[in-house]
Amino acid sequence: MNQNSYDVIILGAGSVGVPTAFFLSKSGVKTLVIEERSSIGQASNKAAIGGIRATHSDPSKAWLCQRSLQIFSTWKEQYGDEIEWKKGGYVYAVYREEDKTTLNNLLIRQKAWKMNIDWLSPNDLLSVIPDLNAEGLLGGTYSPDDGHASPLLSLFASYKHAREQDCEFHFNETVTGFTKQNGKISGIQTNKDNYSASIIVNAAGAWSGELGKLAGMNIPIIPESHEAGITEPVQTFMHPMIVDIRPMGITSNFYFYQHATGQVLFCYSPEPPIHGFDRQVTSDFLPTAAKRLLELIPRLQSVRVRRTWRGLYPMTPDGSPFLGFVPEMPGMMLATGMCGQGFMLGPGVGELITAAITGSLDDVQQEILQNLSLSRSISQIEMLK
Ligand SMILES: Cc1cc2nc3c(=O)[nH]c(=O)nc-3n(C[C@H](O)[C@H](O)[C@H](O)COP(=O)(O)OP(=O)(O)OC[C@H]3O[C@@H](n4cnc5c(N)ncnc54)[C@H](O)[C@@H]3O)c2cc1C
Repeated sequence: MNQNSYDVIILGAGSVGVPTAFFLSKSGVKTLVIEERSSIGQASNKAAIGGIRATHSDPSKAWLCQRSLQIFSTWKEQYGDEIEWKKGGYVYAVYREEDKTTLNNLLIRQKAWKMNIDWLSPNDLLSVIPDLNAEGLLGGTYSPDDGHASPLLSLFASYKHAREQDCEFHFNETVTGFTKQNGKISGIQTNKDNYSASIIVNAAGAWSGELGKLAGMNIPIIPESHEAGITEPVQTFMHPMIVDIRPMGITSNFYFYQHATGQVLFCYSPEPPIHGFDRQVTSDFLPTAAKRLLELIPRLQSVRVRRTWRGLYPMTPDGSPFLGFVPEMPGMMLATGMCGQGFMLGPGVGELITAAITGSLDDVQQEILQNLSLSRSISQIEMLK
């Protein structure tokens, strides 16, 4: 067999490409991953702050993240690697009546999907987060089974086990084109070589739309710039990720948590969204984020910020990913459009893509692939993207 011939080639070694490589190689599929950066996770994965929740408004996204939660939370006992998983839960803290109504309406659906999530009164919420600002607090949702982990350690763990299963990774190599035979994708070209495979997985995140164009297809992915920051480590004083969905000034939602190793990580979504590939940090971010952080947890006022950074969300028009084969382009598989949830979706998506490629999909997985196909009609927008 030609040494440049594989069963599957994955484009991109990020939050999605690496766990997908892990599950494929574990199933005995001969897999090559092509990555233009010098190692795994150097694009959006290392920008992620590590939140993992199943509490979405889209049922397919919720199901995939439930699978991811099972994988993250049992990783250490199953595979032996420390990924700094902590079951700290998620809290949506509410200070406005309209947010109370929105989240309580969503709660009805989330409970119907058998999620462990509840509405807590202000007093009950304060017993979960004693340092939360009580002034004007109306309560909030609490999902104790959600949590967080280290994006870098998690990706490295998948990478290590994929390598042990003979998965190949080529770094510093850029995909520049696709090869077609009889109307079917049969391989790729890079700046270094040509490779053939019967299936190509586009897991190039914010850049997957550009790669789609090289294959002659339109994948509506909009790169969106988001910044984050991290403080020095301090003694543990709070456990859940806290999300505040109030729009304020140049921000929409704001979210933060204290990592298992003591640092507080924080992010906000800019309003209006900033589209494009710009990853330069701004001077707006820190003063704006610090104000929101101190308003919610005044106790943080003397904690020092160590670093800020900026990365990209690969956004889709409805806030849900594009997954699965593309009937109009045989041989092409999509695993992209993760929006602000690619780290938490990664393992669940990797497992699903592997089942689709190895022909072992169950009924639920088949339905998810239908719901998240590129050709779906955009009817509902994910609320918590
Ligand atoms: C500030 C911030 C905070 C976030 N917080 C969270 C969070 O708490 N939880 C969460 O789940 N998500 C979070 N996210 C979102 C998450 O980071 C992304 O959704 C996720 O990383 C996308 O994964 P991906 O695999 O699709 O893309 P990436 O991880 O970016 O991987 C794509 C890879 O493709 C490679 N590539 C692109 N073009 C080519 C080419 N032509 N040839 C070869 N390789 C190519 C890139 O170099 C890259 O390595 C956050 C994002 C940001 C910016």
